[in-house]
Amino acid sequence: MRANPNFQKLPAGYLFPEIGRRVRGYAAAHPDAKVIRLGIGDVTEPLAPAIITAMHGAVDEMARRETFRGYGPEQGYDFLVEAIRAHDYQARGVEVAADEIFVSDGSKCDSGNLQELFAADAVIAVTDPVYPVYVDSNVMAGRTGAPGPDGRYPGLVYLPSTAQNDFCPSPPDRGADVMYLCSPNNPTGAVMTREHLTAWVAWARQHDALIVFDAAYEAYIQDDTLPRSIYEIAGARECAVEMRSFSKRAGFTGVRCGFLVVPKELRATGAGGERVSLNAMWSRRHTTKFNGASYVVQKGAAAVYTPDGLAQTGAQIAFYMENARILRAGLAKAGFAVYGGEHAPYIWLETPRGTTSWQFFDELLDRAHLVGTPGSGFGPSGEGYFRLSAFNSRANVEEAVARLGKVFG
Ligand SMILES: *Cc1c(COP(=O)(O)O)cnc(C)c1O
Repeated sequence: MRANPNFQKLPAGYLFPEIGRRVRGYAAAHPDAKVIRLGIGDVTEPLAPAIITAMHGAVDEMARRETFRGYGPEQGYDFLVEAIRAHDYQARGVEVAADEIFVSDGSKCDSGNLQELFAADAVIAVTDPVYPVYVDSNVMAGRTGAPGPDGRYPGLVYLPSTAQNDFCPSPPDRGADVMYLCSPNNPTGAVMTREHLTAWVAWARQHDALIVFDAAYEAYIQDDTLPRSIYEIAGARECAVEMRSFSKRAGFTGVRCGFLVVPKELRATGAGGERVSLNAMWSRRHTTKFNGASYVVQKGAAAVYTPDGLAQTGAQIAFYMENARILRAGLAKAGFAVYGGEHAPYIWLETPRGTTSWQFFDELLDRAHLVGTPGSGFGPSGEGYFRLSAFNSRANVEEAVARLGKVFG
């Protein structure tokens, strides 16, 4: 058969394999160095007790003929969908109907799968730096050319996120078919204000664009006046889908559960110029290609919304956010310009003395035995920046801050 030629456009898994290669090389040459990894985009705390209890109970149900369950509803069990509606939306004054919520095995899959709804030649806009999944999945689908010398793919619209715009670019003058927005942001840790999100909704409605709103880090927002859902903005139901995940809010990175919200007002233009419902299309796609998230997993996810589950997962997030505070304070004291980390588990810092992201990676590893993620790995505008993650033990975070003070302070 003839293979999909678009895969050749992707530089083969460059960022994290290259980090691994450099760390292994350094550790082999310096066997006594105690390397601390602050590059991790994965939670470190174990699942909360309320979730474990619920999942154990669900496993026991599966063990008995009377309570065994086979295929469930593809869209998700009612007990989870209703908990989502009540706690994530109604509690913030937002009405989302049960048949607008599609439970899945996580947002990474959802963000990749969603583009099956886009026309083959749809114009895709992203922020730069960006969560690489948005870009790479569209490259695979053939919506770009091969990357240029600056690492950008022709055909994509890039909106630089820099210190000048508080890492929240404003809508461009031109339109696009799709705009990916992630707030709180991975990698920059920036959070969008209500005013900002309102401007994006107005832009999308003006240009008949779809906003794909990734709210994976919504639970890390510390200021209750900031929007957690794009549907808190009037008019968003006509122009936005929203991705949510239990990965970062409840430690489900290895358990796998998320959901996509597709409002019934959402319309896009079909081949003959007619308006088609994205909810109907997504429902068709989801029920054709997905057989539902596991019952045990959905029971665990529903337990997140119980009083114990909310208290326990809230305490985990507070723990990570205290790590972020300690990192921010330590970096600032050592003279770094730091961003993010206030409503997100990521800190985005400016590399010192004009060093490149990779030069700083090597310097940090060599002088402080710390590993982070070079900003340039998330897009050309990430050059000169560096991401540190708050997903770690308190002891590692405190040791990292002590080393930063000693080496750079
Ligand atoms: C971690 C993360 C997700 C969650 O992905 P899952 O597949 O649900 O684990 C989504 N978006 C961003 C930007 C993330 O960093």
